[in-house]
Amino acid sequence: MRWSKTLIPTIKEIPQDAEIASHQLMLRAGLIRKLSGGLYTFLPLGLKALRKIERIVREEMDRAGAIEILMPALQPREIWERTGRYATLRDTMFKILDRQNRHLVLGPTHEEVVTDLVAHEINSYRQLPKTFYQIQVKFRDEIRPRFGLMRAKEFVMKDAYSFDTSWEGVEKSYQAMYNAYVRIFERVGLRTKAVEADSGAMGGSASHEFMVLAESGEDGIVECGDCAYAANTERAERKLAAAASPEPPPAARVATPNSRTIEEIAAFLKVKPEMLIKTLIYVVKGQPVAVCIPGHRELNEHKLARALGADVQMADDATVEKATGAPLGFAGPVGLTIPVYADAELASGQASIAGANAADTHLLNVRFGRDAQVAAWHDLVICREHDLCPRCGQPMREKRGIEVGHVFKLGVKYSQALDAMYLDEAGNRQTLIMGCYGIGVTRTLQAVIEQSHDANGIVWPASVAPFEVAVLPLNVNHAETMRVAEELVAALEAQGLAVLMDDRDERPGFKFKDADLIGFPVRAVVSERSLAEGKIEIKQRTATDKKMVPLAEAAGLIAGLIREA
Ligand SMILES: [Zn+2]
Repeated sequence: MRWSKTLIPTIKEIPQDAEIASHQLMLRAGLIRKLSGGLYTFLPLGLKALRKIERIVREEMDRAGAIEILMPALQPREIWERTGRYATLRDTMFKILDRQNRHLVLGPTHEEVVTDLVAHEINSYRQLPKTFYQIQVKFRDEIRPRFGLMRAKEFVMKDAYSFDTSWEGVEKSYQAMYNAYVRIFERVGLRTKAVEADSGAMGGSASHEFMVLAESGEDGIVECGDCAYAANTERAERKLAAAASPEPPPAARVATPNSRTIEEIAAFLKVKPEMLIKTLIYVVKGQPVAVCIPGHRELNEHKLARALGADVQMADDATVEKATGAPLGFAGPVGLTIPVYADAELASGQASIAGANAADTHLLNVRFGRDAQVAAWHDLVICREHDLCPRCGQPMREKRGIEVGHVFKLGVKYSQALDAMYLDEAGNRQTLIMGCYGIGVTRTLQAVIEQSHDANGIVWPASVAPFEVAVLPLNVNHAETMRVAEELVAALEAQGLAVLMDDRDERPGFKFKDADLIGFPVRAVVSERSLAEGKIEIKQRTATDKKMVPLAEAAGLIAGLIREA
């Protein structure tokens, strides 16, 4: 391919609205262009890289025995109502009316569609197990689309769904997908970490996320330095340090005028936030409840919802004032008539200062069990750096990550709702047990760049580089230079390599800069000077030194370098 015959609009300046390196580089290297917030056009280079990732994903899915299908992006709302997910996901779904006023949605995922398909097409244990997959666009009405393809309104996903007759079967299907994911991310050149994850709106009982460690990542991860434990901070558990504080003197009121936030109260009373009990009012199944956590920690709503087995919602101001009988900012567990759920860390008694449920007043020396009754103790906070590993008790580290893949054991939530049954060997109707498995394909593409770039531009792994080699004839008006360049391109293509020839009539420095920016794994330069010696110059993107090699050996040598990479 010749540069002049395609569209590669590179940009020198860093685009204003791109916050992270990979987003900037995708724009600068001419891989994508923004249409509007969260919507991007793939230009030729971006599309080539995307197709290479898709091919790797497809090969590994096929190898794992999954069956490719293609389901519609446009789906009837009714099917989402049957699983109850229209209510939980409606804000993030694009909703459409057709000309007959029928309600449709643009699919953010496909559990409903695939389960409906299987409910109709599979009816015997003899047809099982089966795993179906597709590579397709998904839609999500993001409030704040950002970071380019990382959080877009339209994106490409590979999603797969397994159907089994037993939990042992689900475990096998899950493991097959897990192993395929490990191979996929290795092949696209990504270093990922599989972490335990929350299953969130998907429902289900076990899941792992494949994370690309990166400062710009939107997900928090904690990992143990000693054992293999690693989890999303939404999911992560912690071991508690055992020490219990001695019984304090009787609780006593203290005036805390105009001090409402943890920071204000801690500053006013000249104590550390760890000494405070943070009391939050939530609404669960329509009823207010109090949730107490240590003052320096953050509540993990996912854990709260799991512990209480219901959706939870922060109470509005009026509900808080009614439940506590006090203005906002002075809630505490003592004397409340609503149930109090407390984080297990509070059982040690270290935190002992709480709101008094009265204006401008707090209580000192509060002891759970003595002064305040607890309906149940749970692990309710978001894990942080230095929290102790739940497996081995060693301190954990906190990192940031980009989620590129997610595997779930779903269970029967969707098969039950959509009547996906089969006949077992004895002729009894049984419910199918499901798993689901996603890879953000467009996000994976950007994550590769986020993890693999330097000050000059992208550093593509050869497996996903849009072109593996750039051939740069320095003087395009010199006939011999162009003849040799074209011969080299033909010889490289004969080796099965994708080659771009920069045939623009530009200064050498300009071409070198663009080649580094785009990140071709190998750059081959044909100049009048090198030709005088019967040689061309080769440079790998990851190397600092250049090599002069004889013309006749160049193609074979370059092919060798790409294969090694
Ligand atoms: Zn550990």
